[in-house]
Amino acid sequence: MAKIQAPVKIKDVLYVTFTDLTHEGKAVAKVEGYPLFVEGALPDETGEIEVTKLNKGYGFAKLIRLDQIVPERVVPPCSVYDECGGCQLQHMTYEGQLKMKYNQVRNVIDRIAKLPDVPVHPVLGMEDPWRYRNKAQVPVGMNSGHIVAGFYKKRSHDIIDMTECLIQHEQSDNIIQKVKDVCAANGVMPYDEQRHKGVLRHVMARIGYTTGEMMAVLVTRTAELPNKEAIIKGIRDAIPGITSIVQNVNPDKTNVIFGNQTRTLWGEDVIYDLIGDVKFAISARSFYQVNPVQTEVLYGKALEFAGLTGDEVVIDAYCGIGTISLFLAKKAKEVYGVEIVPQAIEDAKKNAALNGITNAQFQAGKAEEVIPAWYKQGIRPDVIVVDPPRKGCDDALLQTILEMKPKKVVYVSCNPGTLARDLRVLEDGGYKTCEVQPVDMFPQTTHVEAVAVLTL
Ligand code: SAH
Repeated sequence: MAKIQAPVKIKDVLYVTFTDLTHEGKAVAKVEGYPLFVEGALPDETGEIEVTKLNKGYGFAKLIRLDQIVPERVVPPCSVYDECGGCQLQHMTYEGQLKMKYNQVRNVIDRIAKLPDVPVHPVLGMEDPWRYRNKAQVPVGMNSGHIVAGFYKKRSHDIIDMTECLIQHEQSDNIIQKVKDVCAANGVMPYDEQRHKGVLRHVMARIGYTTGEMMAVLVTRTAELPNKEAIIKGIRDAIPGITSIVQNVNPDKTNVIFGNQTRTLWGEDVIYDLIGDVKFAISARSFYQVNPVQTEVLYGKALEFAGLTGDEVVIDAYCGIGTISLFLAKKAKEVYGVEIVPQAIEDAKKNAALNGITNAQFQAGKAEEVIPAWYKQGIRPDVIVVDPPRKGCDDALLQTILEMKPKKVVYVSCNPGTLARDLRVLEDGGYKTCEVQPVDMFPQTTHVEAVAVLTL
């Protein structure tokens, strides 16, 4: 192995000034140009660190002591913030978080897309950046003789017992606690990962923010749930207003949460929620945006950028359960959605019917294959909306867009880096990026979404 050339050694203790924050929320300290990544510090703070790991070109250190702190620093309100790892920015004010996310988007638009003149607007944040998630899923296990439910401790499979998670809906906390208690009271053993024994593996809670409907999902190793009737009654008594109790069976030795078999134990198979005035049916296994409030903000921007008058043909690539397609359908002539997961397409069709929307069509398949086929069939979109996964658009899809020449492209992105890369490809193909609007869908975490609009 080639020797690593670094100006520091493992276990060196150094006094540093932090200069930057990575997109993972780690602070950067540079020693003779060599970056060390440190959790828990913020730019412009100073303090002592101990070097823990050296790689070629960069290393890691742990924070020992902070000396000077910045006004953006706050005491994280969550009691398990350090162990959990689910949030990365709770030690920063919300304003500071939004500023950091803005810088991240601005930076890649300048450096990767090479578009320093394109406006990037301030991040649209939440009025109340807590309790925004509508879906919680936590592992259940045993810890010193007690049944515990919570999150895996960072980089381990030890379960931290947790009574509240400040980014989840309060009712999700309640559902998790009550399901755990009712199961314990009825002799249901938690799953033991080592021995592949026990019953209750995970509890999931889903909440319809606009309807108030609530679903509890018990993921079990065995198809049989001991004392089933007593458990159903116990959960209904403990959680007034619950509308759906579902069991999912996962008999496998695996890290994957869900198995293939799902059955409703009591109540409805789905809960409903609204984004804008479009209603969605959400089953235990459906994909659905986790921050419904900001989803409306993000898709509202996409709709505004699309500038529809009612005459347009729109393609929604990577459409999922059709959230954007249905949101746009009311303002468009026709919408075509494509998505790789067949079950999501089934949900999209059901959601169209649920809303009486008849001008939206959905097809399962790869966007980069289905859209060229549509083009051959004579479908000529005026607007194409893309909302790809983190890796961005497939190059074949970008080339198809350049061939189809829609007047507008609206790009919704969960990864600024791949957004910037793809914008450059579209720019080189003759499109012009007009503006970029970041939206904060995941306060307290480092994730940032953005929507960009391009014209031919
Ligand atoms: N707009 C959707 C979700 C987009 S997330 C919504 O709001 O509900 C990205 C989606 O792209 C996922 O549903 C994923 O399954 C899908 N996907 C990934 N690769 C794809 C491909 N090559 N072609 C079509 N869809 C793809």
